[in-house]
Amino acid sequence: MLRMPPFTVLNPSTVDEAMEQMLAAAGEARWLAGGTDINPNLKHRLLEPQALIALEGVGELRGVSVNEKGWLRLGAMTTLTEVAEHAQIQAQWPALAQAASLVSGPQLRNMGTIGGNVMLDTRCQWYNQTHFWRKSLGYCMKKDGTECHVIKGGSKCVAAASNDTAPALMTLDAEIEIASGDGRARMPLAELWQADGIWNRKLSPQELLVAIHLPPTAAKHHGAYGKLRDRGSIDFPLFGIAVRLDLDDAGKIAHAALCAVALQARPWPLKKVADALCGTTPGEQDFLDAVEQVAALAAKQCRPMPNIPGDHEYRHAMVPVYTKRTLFAAAAKAGPVHHL
Ligand SMILES: Cc1cc2nc3c(=O)[nH]c(=O)nc-3n(C[C@H](O)[C@H](O)[C@H](O)COP(=O)(O)OP(=O)(O)OC[C@H]3O[C@@H](n4cnc5c(N)ncnc54)[C@H](O)[C@@H]3O)c2cc1C
Repeated sequence: MLRMPPFTVLNPSTVDEAMEQMLAAAGEARWLAGGTDINPNLKHRLLEPQALIALEGVGELRGVSVNEKGWLRLGAMTTLTEVAEHAQIQAQWPALAQAASLVSGPQLRNMGTIGGNVMLDTRCQWYNQTHFWRKSLGYCMKKDGTECHVIKGGSKCVAAASNDTAPALMTLDAEIEIASGDGRARMPLAELWQADGIWNRKLSPQELLVAIHLPPTAAKHHGAYGKLRDRGSIDFPLFGIAVRLDLDDAGKIAHAALCAVALQARPWPLKKVADALCGTTPGEQDFLDAVEQVAALAAKQCRPMPNIPGDHEYRHAMVPVYTKRTLFAAAAKAGPVHHL
């Protein structure tokens, strides 16, 4: 049986109180949201904080609302189930609702939060293992060791961003609201990430994600999320791709965005690739031709490594397949795409 290490749990009720507790802990505390990722990681001794600061009682971190300008605000502690089942999110930000609906399984979505998903630790088959297992291999550079087992002689950790909602949020131009010792700040989600699997965010573990803000989508916005995984009922992505298509009044694509996940340390926007879709009309031959072109370009840019489970050559072969399926699903306003 894997046991929890000893730690103290603090229960603030406001963001200010939470920040005071975090600063007082001088780097020895971590945030606890739904606990669905941090708890297994504690059991595997992947982190050993002296305290967890539970965010459950912080009211400001909860709730979904849309302001008078049409911006969606998601409190960081909003559960994935709430995001997946929210009728307005399904209608106006469909890729996000679909991505949330495909995270793990129902029980974990009831506990897991959108904030915990954005701030999810990167994953690697050499890292997400018990202490005994990791020790027997001399550890790895992400925790306790110096060597990378994915890329022999590699100098940078390539553990993969594996958070399903991140690519959908990226295509939707999400902004994040952060609390830190310096007060509050807001920044584009796209600026959060860095290419380092040890810690793939530019914010420190002490900074708090308060809320996610999404601009309103166009009247003719289409979006979808496609996810490759071993078991349709629970697994992390082996490859994930979010699609955004905004149509003009004539039905042509005026703006397109694509973002992939489960490849490398950062969610991976495919900006130039998506541009090939602009000016085409879903349902017409020019769109079908562009989809073929985009799928081929995505396969060139997305190069899965043997960092997460699943044969990486198979994952690579699935890149154009899932890119196409997800584009067709978005164009048809169909539901999420996933491998069963
Ligand atoms: C069996 C299993 C399958 C899973 N499958 C998937 C999957 O398919 N896709 C997927 O994306 N995830 C998956 N997960 C991981 C996890 O369930 C989700 O990512 C979930 O959204 C994490 O949210 P949480 O609230 O439980 O985060 P927690 O576990 O509480 O926290 C995760 C991390 O985020 C930090 N954090 C949490 N909230 C904040 C905040 N507000 N500000 C700053 N930092 C914060 C924590 O300190 C911690 O480092 C799976 C987990 C398990 C156990």
